[in-house]
Amino acid sequence: EPDPTLRPEPLPEDFDRALRPQLLQDFVGQQEARANLAVFIQSARMRGEAMDHTLFHGPPGLGKTTLAQIMSRELGVGFRMTSGPVLAKAGDLAAILTNLEANDVLFIDEIHRLNPVVEEVLYPALEDFELDLVIGEGPAARTVRIELQPFTLVGATTRLGLLTTPLRDRFGIPVRLQFYEIDELNQIVSGNARKLGVEIDPEGAREIARRSRGTPRIAGRLLRRVVDFAVVEGGGITRALADRALTRLGVDHLGLDGADRRYLALIAENYQGGPVGIETISAALSESRDALEEVIEPFLLQQGLIQRTPRGRMLAQKGWTHLGLSAPDAKPG
Ligand code: ADP
Repeated sequence: EPDPTLRPEPLPEDFDRALRPQLLQDFVGQQEARANLAVFIQSARMRGEAMDHTLFHGPPGLGKTTLAQIMSRELGVGFRMTSGPVLAKAGDLAAILTNLEANDVLFIDEIHRLNPVVEEVLYPALEDFELDLVIGEGPAARTVRIELQPFTLVGATTRLGLLTTPLRDRFGIPVRLQFYEIDELNQIVSGNARKLGVEIDPEGAREIARRSRGTPRIAGRLLRRVVDFAVVEGGGITRALADRALTRLGVDHLGLDGADRRYLALIAENYQGGPVGIETISAALSESRDALEEVIEPFLLQQGLIQRTPRGRMLAQKGWTHLGLSAPDAKPG
């Protein structure tokens, strides 16, 4: 265990906590979502009621958890956090729900992975703030109804399509989070550097922003790694230093990493640009289909590097160009 005083950087959790925006006004980007949430939060406060159940969906690292925490802070209510896979039994959910205080925010991450039995228990809780619990087994079993305090469920999912329709329908406020613009990421990187007391020039911040895959979490991680290079080399973060560090980390000028490039290269080299089915790609890359669909593909699609067709994934022209290859059917010249 190294002496903590010898560590120039805070521990990762501290780092993350220190950088997480605390209020809606500190949250960069997602302008439409932010403007709408501000209205719903203010209205709930004025009525003195629980805010409507809210569902955040979109790729990982875009700020779903952060927004849920901001909501509870702005509403002035408590925050409880759990996740779909953790709630194995109905009793696990019941224990949490019965301990909520009036108007609290309950955040359930990965809500598409809720056990169906637990989901059934959740429905009446969401609609009427009631729990129907079965006590005992066999002929002695009976149902008891428990009244709950009103609360706000905030769900987060990277896979909207995997949510059951009844669950989806119970969220009054669905919010889709988008990949961030480079200017927005630039603002996040510059702000984080300032909070960390790191010297960074505007071009250095912009270089990190450009290569962050549209994702604040990645921007935070890349900044941390670039800071390591700056500390060792003894100086501030310039564009040249950021470029050198990111290139060494295998992050290319579009922000793609090794896994992204392997995906593109597989379609180009083994399937002549596709179409190729997702299961085939998954087997060839030894990556789970979920990881491909949640993490890798959304950004490649957003960047126009690939296309999804009914017959499978295809490399788009920009994908060929990015790999430095030409499409097999492209006319010469
Ligand atoms: P998600 O729940 O969508 O996976 P998080 O809310 O955990 O994402 O955010 C990931 C990281 O990115 C956190 O460290 C958070 O502080 C940071 N972050 C997310 N959105 C923003 C934003 N709009 N401005 C600044 N930092 C952000």
